[in-house]
Amino acid sequence: MENQKKRLIIIGAGFAGINLAKNLHHEDLEIVLVDRHNYHLFQPLLYQVATAALSPADIAHPVRRIFRKQKNVNVALGRIERVDLEQKKIYGGDTSVDYDYLALCVGATHSYFGKEEKWAPVAPGLKTLDDATLIRRKVLLAFEEAELELDEQSRRAKLTFVVVGGGPTGVELAGALREIAAKYIQEDFRNIDTSTSRVILLEGGDRLLQGFSEKSSQRAKQDLEKMGVEVRLNSLVTDMDEHGVWIAEERLLAQNVLWAAGVAAPPILSTLGVETDKCGRIKVEPDLSVPGHPEVFVLGDAAHIVDPKTHELVPGLAPAAIQMGKYGAKVLRAELSGDKDARAKVKPFVYTDKGIMATIGVNRAVAETGPFKFSGTLAWLAWSLIHIFFLIGFRNRVFVMAGWIYDYIARTREARLITGQFSLKVRKFRKAPKQA
Ligand SMILES: Cc1cc2nc3c(=O)[nH]c(=O)nc-3n(C[C@H](O)[C@H](O)[C@H](O)COP(=O)(O)OP(=O)(O)OC[C@H]3O[C@@H](n4cnc5c(N)ncnc54)[C@H](O)[C@@H]3O)c2cc1C
Repeated sequence: MENQKKRLIIIGAGFAGINLAKNLHHEDLEIVLVDRHNYHLFQPLLYQVATAALSPADIAHPVRRIFRKQKNVNVALGRIERVDLEQKKIYGGDTSVDYDYLALCVGATHSYFGKEEKWAPVAPGLKTLDDATLIRRKVLLAFEEAELELDEQSRRAKLTFVVVGGGPTGVELAGALREIAAKYIQEDFRNIDTSTSRVILLEGGDRLLQGFSEKSSQRAKQDLEKMGVEVRLNSLVTDMDEHGVWIAEERLLAQNVLWAAGVAAPPILSTLGVETDKCGRIKVEPDLSVPGHPEVFVLGDAAHIVDPKTHELVPGLAPAAIQMGKYGAKVLRAELSGDKDARAKVKPFVYTDKGIMATIGVNRAVAETGPFKFSGTLAWLAWSLIHIFFLIGFRNRVFVMAGWIYDYIARTREARLITGQFSLKVRKFRKAPKQA
């Protein structure tokens, strides 16, 4: 009977892929879950790895561990490069695999608005654990170099951090950078006062956190400014190099530029040859399948779907990806039920919006759910608890919670490790420690 089994290939073990597989225990379905990493990543806490509050293992969980007990799931490590919809095959490296059903749950990537080649090496974005450890290295090295630097202009540039993009990630990064510089590492350096570091948040639009209400945007701006972040609205970056950024004619000298602005769909989606939106997301049917290919689903950030109730685009958020994963499983269960009318009876996907939140710093956050908007300590506590709750893995929950409590009490950042290859860039070296 083995050969009667249908094969579902899921590409991507993010929120959508994991929730799709977890909700399909169907015995006649062989699931192959492929990801280019061997872990599921909790992206909402990536900025905490980038700013040395958490370690990489705290926010990642091995995919094999998640499916240890679900015997119809085979986990595979691999990067899939291409999909052939007609042949029903996926391709990665020298390998191709056939599928009966396919779910593309590949998330999103950065967009530098066509300037990838020049801007990406200067201003790393934050989507993967590698990005987070790269940013952590860049930030921590900046303080180390400033400690050794005698040239005043160069030292100032090293202590200037520019975050491009005033969405949740930009707000979180800017707030966390300011907290590190002003609160957590000040006493650890001898020659520099890290609290004099400039953190500048650049937003092209007229307010931060565009997806939030005007009130929350205002509150986020006020909180950031109280913390010492320079918030600049209507400030579009027009160019950048290793010495800083341009905002039209204005030059801003900064050695550290971080990118939190544009989102694009991963390149694999373009190999399908079907209609996409301008970000490259696939325009899916109301049941999240690809037009003309009911056996192929696109779930999570990679899908472009307008909610039938609100008539708005379903946002690229973890709860939306989780709901799409569960919905995809429902459609497939109907398909595999043996009742040929069952699938048609499944209602179109509707996004249940439970609210949005963004953290700004310790005891500072904004949260909105339905008509309720709150901020400050209450929002920050809600943000912390919800993030702990959604983390996958008991160890991760315990470690993250313990790490936060420790940092809160001890006012420190313990994950301050500079890893990987680097060379110090100092114009004029300080020879001996400054005398008191
Ligand atoms: C820095 C940051 C902060 C965020 N903060 C929040 C937040 O506070 N709240 C919130 O709700 N949402 C937040 N989000 C958004 C949220 O993380 C995404 O909406 C969610 O992860 C989307 O889930 P997904 O399953 O579609 O994709 P992902 O979770 O991105 O998973 C995609 C998976 O596909 C794999 N993959 C991609 N391409 C390939 C390939 N070619 N071959 C094999 N594997 C592949 C990837 O390795 C990854 O594991 C944040 C995102 C980022 C980047």
